[in-house]
Amino acid sequence: MADANGRSVGKSLRVLVTGGAGFLGSHLCERLLGEGHEVIALDDFSTGSPESVAHLMRSRRFWLVEHDVALPFDYEVDRIYHLASPASPARYQRDPVRTTITNVAGALHALECAERHGARLLQASTSEVYGDPEVHPQPESYLGRVNPVGVRACYDEGKRCAESLVMDFHRQGRASARIARIFNTYGPRMAVDDGRVVSNFIVQALRGEDITVHGSGAQTRSFCYVDDLVEGCLRLMEHPADVGPVNLGNPAEVTVLELAQEILRLTGSASRIVHRPLPEDDPRQRRPAIELARRLLGFEPRVALRQGLRATIESFRRALAGAGEQRAAAMAS
Ligand code: NAD
Ligand code: UDP
Repeated sequence: MADANGRSVGKSLRVLVTGGAGFLGSHLCERLLGEGHEVIALDDFSTGSPESVAHLMRSRRFWLVEHDVALPFDYEVDRIYHLASPASPARYQRDPVRTTITNVAGALHALECAERHGARLLQASTSEVYGDPEVHPQPESYLGRVNPVGVRACYDEGKRCAESLVMDFHRQGRASARIARIFNTYGPRMAVDDGRVVSNFIVQALRGEDITVHGSGAQTRSFCYVDDLVEGCLRLMEHPADVGPVNLGNPAEVTVLELAQEILRLTGSASRIVHRPLPEDDPRQRRPAIELARRLLGFEPRVALRQGLRATIESFRRALAGAGEQRAAAMAS
């Protein structure tokens, strides 16, 4: 286990990762196992898949449990990384009521589990708590500009309510908890049909399909490679004090159009860029202020966008080739 300065503290812990079969969760489980911990991944496989952690199943320190966090759960553990929630706008808007319930009831159940066992909890919150921000870049002190009745509210307000539960448990002395406000993170093992921009553009480019840029593509995001994000989460979890929300992400900001052009360059694809309507309440700009994470945790993203995209493109090439082989085998049999 790494401490707030990234040094190994060498103690083996029992760790629960909700949403452990998702994109971030699978990387987190892998890293925790690599550090010698016992890991229980809890997941309902609604947006994740057992395949994401199939390579971890050989470990005798890893358990995968199917469970919906909207229902209570109980594990005697030292740490809880609470990640269970759909994260892609396309996916969280598919069943918005369930998204709200997952986030609110899920956080409550994770906190109650932490309280029962004296475990420390890290809540995976999001830059979406800032909504469509008027302050740029966004510091933790910014209270945000969320439309509470819009199509993204199920996720944004669900995550805001979860933060409020975490802080109330903390103030009442019921659980030791951290809040990671995670900004757009990408990398290998995102689902091919996830719907978020990086995976969409890479899959479209590799398949030679049109690249679907929403609006003019002038809206910005700041993309963090998954390894950097996992490092930040570990450091925040092991920070000795409950410190309130901390932004984690990479402050290098690009427009969505620039991202599309970079992915076209790196894949060598002949795909065309086409424009589609901008979805409702789509934030126009987003960039994390990470001074707090730098100061408290020594957090510094190391992987530049081009480098991270190269690794992600390679993993998607393999995933798509594998899927093609499986289709061909099914047709031949
Ligand atoms: P993901 O969709 O790949 O993973 C989420 C996992 O949670 C999936 O395995 C899914 O099956 C599981 N899940 C969903 N609802 C559940 C429920 N009711 N019970 C049990 N499991 C459930 O998404 P991700 O990118 O890995 O995101 C993980 C967490 O990080 C989420 O809480 C998300 O809000 C947060 N986050 C991610 C990003 C990002 O850019 N990746 C940014 C901000 C916040
Ligand atoms: N986007 C896009 N084309 C796509 C998917 C997304 O242009 O195929 C845009 C989306 O409208 C947003 C940005 O890319 O402006 C990031 O979207 P994503 O769904 O990845 O996550 P968000 O940051 O909006 O939660």
